[in-house]
Amino acid sequence: MSALTGGRPAPRPAPRDRAADGPAPAGPAAVPFDVDRIREDFPILRQTVRGRPLAYLDNAASAQKPRAVIEAVSRFYTDMSSNVHRGLHELSERATAAYEKSRATVRRFLNAADDREIVFLRGTTEAINLVANTWGVQHVRAGDEIVISEMEHHSNIVPWQLLCERQGARLQIAPITDAGDLRLDALEQLLNPRTRLVALPHVSNALGTVNPVRRIVEIAHGRGVPVLLDGAQAAPHLPVDVRAIGCDFFAFSGHKLYGPTGIGALYARAALLEEMPPWQGGGDMIASVSFEKTTYNRIPYKFEAGTPDIAGAIGLGAAIEYVEGIGWPGIEAHEKDLLDHGTRALSSIPGVRIVGTAREKVSVLSFVVDGVHPHDVGTILDGHGVAIRAGHHCAQPLMDRLGVPATARASLSFYNTRAEIDALEEGIRSVREVFGS
Ligand code: PMP
Repeated sequence: MSALTGGRPAPRPAPRDRAADGPAPAGPAAVPFDVDRIREDFPILRQTVRGRPLAYLDNAASAQKPRAVIEAVSRFYTDMSSNVHRGLHELSERATAAYEKSRATVRRFLNAADDREIVFLRGTTEAINLVANTWGVQHVRAGDEIVISEMEHHSNIVPWQLLCERQGARLQIAPITDAGDLRLDALEQLLNPRTRLVALPHVSNALGTVNPVRRIVEIAHGRGVPVLLDGAQAAPHLPVDVRAIGCDFFAFSGHKLYGPTGIGALYARAALLEEMPPWQGGGDMIASVSFEKTTYNRIPYKFEAGTPDIAGAIGLGAAIEYVEGIGWPGIEAHEKDLLDHGTRALSSIPGVRIVGTAREKVSVLSFVVDGVHPHDVGTILDGHGVAIRAGHHCAQPLMDRLGVPATARASLSFYNTRAEIDALEEGIRSVREVFGS
C-alpha cells in the first residue's frame, strides 16, 4: 500500500491543457528533401522481391516504417515496458510520460487546441465506430439523416448504417462527378432539418480526391450540422489543421502515416467529448467504481478503456516527428512530381484508363487495363517486384458508381522514386503483352 496515497490509486497525470490559441510546441526542423537519404531510413525498402528491387506502391493500404519508429517501439520494450497511469514506480512513470508525450505530438500535428481532444484508438475504423456509438446514439433519432458520399471507404459507411438501423435513421448519399469530385451543390441540397451529421473522407483512398473540407464544414455548420472527417488518407499526404478546417471530429490511422499498426487517434472538440457517454467500460476510463454506481474519468481517458497500445502510441509519436522532420513542403512537392510522372506514364499506355481525375488529388493512381482483371494486373506486377493493390479498396459502392468491379491502384509515398514508377509502367506494358491486348 502506498504511504503517499493511503492505498488509493495513484493520481493520473493530467494531459497538458492548452489555451485555445496557445503556441504549439515546435516539431523537428525540416532538412532539404533528398529521396535517396530518406530511403536509407526504411530498412524494408532495400530488399529484392522475385529477383527485382522492391517497388512498394501500396502505401494507401499501409505505409512502411522508418528506423526511428521501429527503434521507438523497441525502446519502449527494452527501457520502460510497464503499464501507464497506474504505478508509482519509475518504469511506469517513464511509460506514462512517453505515452502522453505522443498525445501532445498528435495534438500538435493536427493543430488541435488541447491534448484532451486526442483519444488514442486502434485506428480510423475504431474512431468512427466510437463516434457512431456514443455521439451518434445520443443525437440520432428515428427519421434523422446522416450524409455521407459515394466515395466512402466501408469504414465510413457501415458504422453509420449500423447506427441508422439501431435508431431508425437513414443515410443520404452525396454524389460525385465521373472525375471523382464531390458535388458540393448536391451535398448542400441534401442538408435539411433532419440532418444530424455530415461524415466524409478528407481524401479518398480509391481515387485520391482531396475534398474541399473547409468549404464543406462552412456549408454544414451554416445549417447547424457537425462534420466528421475520415482523415485516414489525408494525414499521410498533407498538413491537417483541424482548427482551420473547423471540423468536429477527425479520425486517422498510424499505420498509413509510417507508424505502427493497431494505433490511431480520434480528434474531437473537447466540448463534444465532455458530453459524449463512454463507449467501452473497464480500467482507466473510470474515476470510481462501486456496485451501485460508476463515475467516469475525465477526457480523453473516458474513451480509453483498458490497457492501451502504449508501444503503438509511442511509435506513432515517433512517426509524426519523422514526417515533420522531412517537412511538408518537400513531401508535397515530391509526391506531386511522382503523381504527375505516374499520370503521364499510365496515360501513355494504350488500353489503360486512370480512374479518378479530380481537380485536387494526392498521389493515388487507380487504373484499369482493358480486358484484364485488376487481380491479374496485380499478380503480374508482383512478378516485377512492384507491389500495388487490386480490388474494390473497401469502397464497393464507389466501384458500382464508377461501373467497374475493381481497379488496380498504385499509391505513392515520399520515399518512392520515378524509377519505381517506370518499373510500374514496364510491368503494365508486359501485362498487355501477356494478355495479347
Ligand atoms: N478510411 C479510409 C479512407 C481508408 O483508406 C482506410 C484504410 N484503407 C480506412 C478508413 C480504415 O482505416 P483502418 O483500417 O486503419 O482503420
